[in-house]
Amino acid sequence: MTSPVTVLGLGPMGQAIARTLLAAGHDVTVWNRTPEKGVQLAELGARVAPSSAAAIRRSGIVLVSVRGNDVARDILERADLADARPLIVNLSSDTPASARRLAAWTASQGSGYLGGTMLTPSVLVGRPGSTAVVGGDRDAYEAARPTLEVIAPELTLAGDDPGAVAALDLAILDAFWTTVAGWSHAVALGRAEGLDPIALTDRLTAIVHLAAQVGAGISRDAEAGEYPGDVSTIASARTSLAHILGASRDSSIDTALPTAIGGLFQRAVDEGHQADGPSRLVATIEQASTDAGPAESSRPVDLLAR
Ligand code: NDP
Repeated sequence: MTSPVTVLGLGPMGQAIARTLLAAGHDVTVWNRTPEKGVQLAELGARVAPSSAAAIRRSGIVLVSVRGNDVARDILERADLADARPLIVNLSSDTPASARRLAAWTASQGSGYLGGTMLTPSVLVGRPGSTAVVGGDRDAYEAARPTLEVIAPELTLAGDDPGAVAALDLAILDAFWTTVAGWSHAVALGRAEGLDPIALTDRLTAIVHLAAQVGAGISRDAEAGEYPGDVSTIASARTSLAHILGASRDSSIDTALPTAIGGLFQRAVDEGHQADGPSRLVATIEQASTDAGPAESSRPVDLLAR
């Protein structure tokens, strides 16, 4: 027996969630700020509600997938949660602090709450291996579990703090988007010098795999508080970044990325850590966030002037 479920937000992720639940036989109600995004789902059997309030009243479980927690809160406030008191499962990505605020506000309205993240691209929702992590009350988790396992068979309850799940989500996105930006810069740099970006793909793939192996060591070093430079050093990496910056300037492509990353290595050198390994950057970054403050940490550094 499947439960009625409401999906608020029909971006690529919300649509994939609604489609997957419909295919599994759920009674699905959807609502989206831009109603046209519900048309195809209606053809598949979804009820398209005229308002978020109407959508919430139709189901005991409400999945929210929108662009951040301010948007989620705005939608839920307009829907008058205190009236319907559904179980809210918020799968929108945002900061840990905003996740905790939303959880507290939802509880004040008398609703159950789980805050979570889909660790799966929208195109893979519901497939074997599709993964989600949620945080919140165990009873709420058990109530939502049969529904959530339809969209994410690999489902985990990671404690009772939705803020910790938001932190996990952002750590993963941090690594993902900086890698995507690095790959994009590498393609632009190569193209500026006449390299074929398609031919570059295998080489870049290999180096990203190597970065993943280096990353495991970074995590271990950060925990140990020791940053051995026996394989490569901060000083050497700083020089590589200066070369990347120089080539970027020569080719008139954007220099923001090598300037920012080179600036981190430069600060580690300035603080006397040139012989350490690249894992030293964790300590460098942690210090900027607590002692130096954002203005200092974003100070532009001219790597080529050294
Ligand atoms: P977006 O993050 O672009 O969110 C789009 C949804 O947010 C739409 O329903 C949109 O409504 C709504 N929205 C945005 N601004 C407002 C607003 N001011 N008022 C009301 N509604 C608003 O798209 P996704 O679907 O991709 O992502 C949803 C969540 O899922 C995000 O937190 C994302 O990080 C996360 N996620 C997405 C993945 C993916 O593969 N797409 C993978 C893993 C997580 P409208 O259509 O009217 O603009």
